[in-house]
Amino acid sequence: MSLPEVLAGIRAAEQRAGRPAGSVRLVAVTKGQDLEAIRTQVLPYADLQPGGFPLGEGRAQELRDKAAQLPDVEWHFIGPLQLNKVKYMRPVTLIHALEDVRQAQALADAAAKWGHAPDVLLQLHNGEAQKHGIHPQDLRSVYAGVVQTGLNVRGLMVMAPEGDADAARPVFADAARRAHDLGLPDLSMGMSGDYAVAIEQGATLVRVGRSLFL
Ligand SMILES: *Cc1c(COP(=O)(O)O)cnc(C)c1O
Repeated sequence: MSLPEVLAGIRAAEQRAGRPAGSVRLVAVTKGQDLEAIRTQVLPYADLQPGGFPLGEGRAQELRDKAAQLPDVEWHFIGPLQLNKVKYMRPVTLIHALEDVRQAQALADAAAKWGHAPDVLLQLHNGEAQKHGIHPQDLRSVYAGVVQTGLNVRGLMVMAPEGDADAARPVFADAARRAHDLGLPDLSMGMSGDYAVAIEQGATLVRVGRSLFL
């Protein structure tokens, strides 16, 4: 597969779901990929999506090093945010997986020094034995606490349980309902194996890695 093929898959899934073409944005997950792979397999296609493809990284130092080499692309951070790594988030425009108010406050404090702040998404726990994410009963209070820090909360993010894409459907549907209840416009959900199901359930951002580099 290649990026244009994944993009065709995204457009087809939008159409099947009765959603407007272009309502889903592809985040190219480049973790573990070197600059050469990014330069040959992602950047040449930038014209295929308005604003180009944001690059998604999951480890803070890797993000810092790559962003220094490629300062003119849009960077997203999709991994768990450690408090002592917040300083590396300066180039980032969207944090996908914020999990608590402490992270938000650390980010807001750093952003005040930088003079600009990334937008954030809150990561929902997916109901499986998963280490990361906000449990549903805590979502409203975490949301309120993050808003208090002054960060712009754009939506929710969730990762489906590993396995078949059909197991992902109820997890995605639940996240979509909760985002809607909070009045949040964005939903980051769907990876190489399940992005079509995520789009069916309302994803606005899909985070695809492996399929772009096969
Ligand atoms: C690695 C990763 C992805 C991309 O997964 P692929 O299966 O490579 O498409 C998406 N989201 C997160 C949070 C990841 O860590």
